[in-house]
Amino acid sequence: MGSQETTISVGGVAGPVHVKIFPVPDCLFCGIAASEIPATIVSSNPRTIAFRDINPQAPVHILVIPRAHHPNLAELAAADVGLLADLVAHAHEVALAEGIADTGYRVVFNTGRHGGQTVDHVHAHVIGGRQMTWPPG
Ligand code: 5GP
Ligand code: ZN
Repeated sequence: MGSQETTISVGGVAGPVHVKIFPVPDCLFCGIAASEIPATIVSSNPRTIAFRDINPQAPVHILVIPRAHHPNLAELAAADVGLLADLVAHAHEVALAEGIADTGYRVVFNTGRHGGQTVDHVHAHVIGGRQMTWPPG
C-alpha cells in the first residue's frame, strides 16, 4: 500500500469541496477503500463504503467504513461528527437494500479491547437476517 493520497469531492452548501485522504500504511480497511485489497462492495459514495464481512455472523453481515482513516468510534465522533452521521445513514441504506430494515437489524461498533475491535479503522457492522440475542457475548 503506497502513501499516495486520494482526492474525493464532498458536497456542501457552497458546492463541492475537494478533500485529500491519506491511506494509513498497513491499514486493511484503507487498503479496501483504495481498491488495493479486494472486497465485495455492496454500495459506496464519496465518503463511505459498504462491503460484505469476510466471516459473516448472520445471513446479512456488512461492514460500513469511512474512506478516511479514523481509528475508532470515539476518534471519529471527535474529529467529524458529520461523517459519523453519514456512516450511520449508509448503514440504514444497507439494511433497506438487503431487505432487513422491516424485520430489524443490529448496528455494532466494536471499540477497543473489551469491545472486541480487531481492525483499527472505524467500521459499523450491519447484522441481520436472523433473530439477535441479548446480552451479546
Ligand atoms: P472488529 O472485530 O474490528 O469489530 O471487526 C472486524 C471485522 O472485519 C470482522 O468481522 C472480520 O471478519 C472482518 N474482516 C477481517 N478481515 C477482513 C477482510 O480482509 N475482508 C473483509 N471483507 N472483512 C474482513
Ligand atoms: Zn485505515
